[in-house]
Amino acid sequence: MTLAVKSIAPIRGQDDKSIIYGLDIGGTKIEIGVFTQELQLLDSWRTPTPTKSYSEFVQTICNLVIEANDRYAKSAIIGIGMPGIIDKNGLVKSANVPCSTGKNIVEDLNEALHCEVSIGNDCRLFALSESVGGAGDGYKRVYGAIIGTGAAGGFCIDGQLYNGRSGFAGEYGHLPVSAYLIDKYDLPIKACGCGLTGCYEAYVSGPGLAWIYQYFGAKNRDTYHFVQQLNAGDEIAKTAFNCYMDLLGASFASLILSYDPDIIVVGGGVSKIDQVIESLPSFVNNHLFSGVHCPVIKRAKYGDSSGVRGAAILRKQFSES
Ligand SMILES: [Zn+2]
Repeated sequence: MTLAVKSIAPIRGQDDKSIIYGLDIGGTKIEIGVFTQELQLLDSWRTPTPTKSYSEFVQTICNLVIEANDRYAKSAIIGIGMPGIIDKNGLVKSANVPCSTGKNIVEDLNEALHCEVSIGNDCRLFALSESVGGAGDGYKRVYGAIIGTGAAGGFCIDGQLYNGRSGFAGEYGHLPVSAYLIDKYDLPIKACGCGLTGCYEAYVSGPGLAWIYQYFGAKNRDTYHFVQQLNAGDEIAKTAFNCYMDLLGASFASLILSYDPDIIVVGGGVSKIDQVIESLPSFVNNHLFSGVHCPVIKRAKYGDSSGVRGAAILRKQFSES
């Protein structure tokens, strides 16, 4: 397929690997980060994501690369992270960028950018970023878990992402919620955005936390208000917190039983709530076999820049392999 995209001039001297561009494609914005080989971030900026027109979407990515070439006037290698599942042939299925679903984004970007790009799932790249020089640095087996608008992650061994057969290893948010906890808190079994029913994501993501807060009697679904009320000792906030942490702890126990990591690094909006990080190990331990203990849990080191950084690492590792 030939796209109606204003093609860019071939990047000069592609064997010069002195600069890496990491692009993080989200449902609302695309960010580009310019990195050195040592993963020092030199610059980053962002632009809105076109989600309806695929050719506009590809053009927007090209424009970011053109601008980066103009600013840095160097050759670069390019890594990209985006939400959804990208199979090994480059075909995409993404709810957040609907225009890309069914498209071969690897082929189309290679053609439009005149170079070979590496693409990975954004949550898997968060794990990679935290495994290489991030909060998981020095640990052999690192699980990176994002708790934000969704709940997903990835697993790395020795600084390399474990991809699995189909690329979805790490989707802990779509494990089925504990029947024991549904019964304990008298919760409805919720439909999930993925098409399944009863996934953890509907309860443990940021919107899930807001829903639980309201379910236990709050007048709104505002997580900032929830944290304020929790700090003030409000009974509704405390009840919602205990239920939420029980569910989150159980979901982490499931991923520990699956991957047995040395450390879990947590990122995303919910990870910024101190009480969540502090109390998580004890809630996890409640759902593990006796004698088995929760591994180290740390907050992410790179926060919002982990997407562009993980994409840059993916491409750097590809060029070195
Ligand atoms: Zn699901």
